[in-house]
Amino acid sequence: MSDLKKHTIIISPIGNPDTNLLNRVRRAIYNIFGYPTEIIPILDEVDFALDPGRNQYHSTPILDELVRNIPYRAAKVLAIAKVDLFIPILTHVYGEAQLGGKACIISTYRLKESLSPLNSHEVYPCRVIKEAIHELGHTFNLRHCRDRSCIMHYCRTVKDVDRKRNQLCRYCSVLLEDELKRLKNKSRNV
Ligand SMILES: [Zn+2]
Ligand SMILES: [Zn+2]
Repeated sequence: MSDLKKHTIIISPIGNPDTNLLNRVRRAIYNIFGYPTEIIPILDEVDFALDPGRNQYHSTPILDELVRNIPYRAAKVLAIAKVDLFIPILTHVYGEAQLGGKACIISTYRLKESLSPLNSHEVYPCRVIKEAIHELGHTFNLRHCRDRSCIMHYCRTVKDVDRKRNQLCRYCSVLLEDELKRLKNKSRNV
């Protein structure tokens, strides 16, 4: 792991990964953030985050555990879980991220809702990619965007997810560019 490049985003599947899907996520990350990716499973299981009363997994302790175990030099880590995630104030979340931090997580659990057999091949991976980019966007300091077609728009339902494009709006693109520049300068000065 010592040869890991400094600007690598780690994709960390929890449970059996779907290689095709992961490859699509990797391409999308590279296209938007310009970072190379590596697939490294960091956590084998997330039972420590299970809330037996809700039968769901609390995403925040999972983020903490990811950060504790993140390989040296990795820029960010995106975990992809199959289990249903929540934070205490919400019934469920599609993902959670540390704003401007290192770790984020998405869950594919509810992204399988309301799929038709006709379009599930296309719609499901698109949803996963959108949520992956959305959560990673938060780790690059992007906040929620009011533009409903922007990938940083907050989605409560899969309908909202399907409605947005898999791109940042112009405003968020500029913010991301600034953040990428800031990170580059910072790493040069270290
Ligand atoms: Zn968000
Ligand atoms: Zn936006």
